[in-house]
Amino acid sequence: MNLIDATHDPALKSWVDSANAAGTDFTIQNLPFGRFRRAGSDEPWRIGVAIGDQVLDLKLAAAQCPWADGVADLLQPLAEGDLNAFMAMGSQARSTVRSALSAALAEGSDQGPFLELCLVPQREAEMALPCRIGDYTDFYTGIHHATTVGKLFRPDNPLLPNYKWVPIGYHGRVSSIGVSGQTVRRPSGQTLAPGATEPSFGPCKRLDYELELGILVGPGNALGEPKTMAQAEADWFGLVLLNDWSARDIQAWEYQPLGPFLAKNFASTISPWVVTQEALAPYRAPFAHPQGDPQPLPYLSSEFNSAAGAVDVTLEVWLKTKQMPEPQRLMQSNFRDAYWTVAQLLTHHASGGCNLQPGDLLGTGTLSGPQPGQGGSLLELSNGGKAPLTLASGETRTFLQDGDTVILRAFCAAPGRARIGFGEAAGTVLG
Ligand code: CA
Repeated sequence: MNLIDATHDPALKSWVDSANAAGTDFTIQNLPFGRFRRAGSDEPWRIGVAIGDQVLDLKLAAAQCPWADGVADLLQPLAEGDLNAFMAMGSQARSTVRSALSAALAEGSDQGPFLELCLVPQREAEMALPCRIGDYTDFYTGIHHATTVGKLFRPDNPLLPNYKWVPIGYHGRVSSIGVSGQTVRRPSGQTLAPGATEPSFGPCKRLDYELELGILVGPGNALGEPKTMAQAEADWFGLVLLNDWSARDIQAWEYQPLGPFLAKNFASTISPWVVTQEALAPYRAPFAHPQGDPQPLPYLSSEFNSAAGAVDVTLEVWLKTKQMPEPQRLMQSNFRDAYWTVAQLLTHHASGGCNLQPGDLLGTGTLSGPQPGQGGSLLELSNGGKAPLTLASGETRTFLQDGDTVILRAFCAAPGRARIGFGEAAGTVLG
């Protein structure tokens, strides 16, 4: 399986100048898909590709630019604004379209003069959820998060015995998933105050975020027909950033015995641009459980998964309070520290016969790093609210206050490779 091709050449430049600027997320090696329209208009939503500070409108591009045989058909669902239909087509379609877009956007392309007329500045675009998300499942693959949070909730028994054998997850809620820029109303709920014998109902006092990646599923599987690891590897479409907003005081009271419920279903925010698995190919990395841990059962193992199942994505949380002129970075971690890979999550999800569908969203769980300052939530960074963080503005935080904006960012970078970024998933607590 040779994952690297001409589209990943770090020397490749685009005729869209801003795509060549140092530090841009949307280099020509990236080419993520999103759903947009001109801000303030009531035009139908369209699928676009981010390139530098522009969006390539694929409806216009399909109609107004000549394409090689076979490419025009594959562009059709994208031209119609239906990312799910394109996701269902699978890896060969993704690769073919990626190669065609890369060649068309590359410096010197004779398609350039046509496509120049199909660009919309990102600052003039309004973004929607990239696709119809039919179902949302949230996993718990961040072992450092699971251990730290486990200690707070169960000091004697932080990591339950199933953790290293089975990818833990629960079925979440789709209706409250929003795109970056989402405003979040502080939820009310039942909580049991420290020392109280009976719960009370009121606004959440321990509002938190969770730094996650979201996996979007490409081709699904029929009910009752599981996926192999090889199928799962071919069938994931791409990744977005995911903030799984969490109400810790509501969670602590309600989570046993069936797991998260109202503590998690009031809002989830994703980034608008889907970075495809093809764009992530240069950053794939070997995967192994630590020495001495159980090895994955055979249905969750494959040679490819051991050789290149992980993805090296640097993740960051930034916070901006009402008093700050600029956001402040709170931490950095890496997706390589997750306990299960993308293919293992899809394979496990379908292993009992559950039918995954194009556009389904699978959250990775909070991606904390191994060091104390690498918590992917305030629950971890403030040690369960006992150790407030002091911010650059002099303010302190244990949990989120009204008016706070949480910004998730991510990028991939490796020696001899271009940098690609995810844009951001930003959300603000109303107030
Ligand atoms: Ca979560």
